[in-house]
Amino acid sequence: MEKTLKDLFVDEIKDLYNAEKQLTKALPQMAKKVTSEKLKVAFEKHLKETENQITRLEQVFKELDLTPKGKKCEAMEGLIKEGKGLMEEIDKSDTLDAALIAAAQKVEHYEIASYGTVRTYAEQLNFSKSADLLQETLEEESASNENLTELAMKINIEAAGGVEK
Ligand code: FE
Ligand code: FE
Ligand code: FE
Repeated sequence: MEKTLKDLFVDEIKDLYNAEKQLTKALPQMAKKVTSEKLKVAFEKHLKETENQITRLEQVFKELDLTPKGKKCEAMEGLIKEGKGLMEEIDKSDTLDAALIAAAQKVEHYEIASYGTVRTYAEQLNFSKSADLLQETLEEESASNENLTELAMKINIEAAGGVEK
């Protein structure tokens, strides 16, 4: 099948639209299972951001003159499935918190890679409003990832049985 860069851009936006929607269902479940109050707050904050990211993607569809429509993101489905597996395998504990931070960071990295790509496509295709919107989301995903790294430094020590608080 012949495809253009614009086709790739649209496909990837549909993929992200579906991925973000999957996350709005997964994040509350993860927030419910964690012990650390700070981590719970982080997941809840990122849920709000995720809802806003969905709105941004709808604005991108608008610039493309398309009705917002997702296409199943198999990768996100797999990442979420792994996170759910951890929640089933590990009792509520500092260890589960450490595991869910790792799962969440895998999600952020997938998003960072994807948003970096679509931001660049949007620039190259001269959809400048979309490029700005996608850049905003990219920065949010990066900040979320960095926040998780900070939380991990504390929580992983607790999970290892350390005294550092
Ligand atoms: Fe996101
Ligand atoms: Fe995907
Ligand atoms: Fe995210």
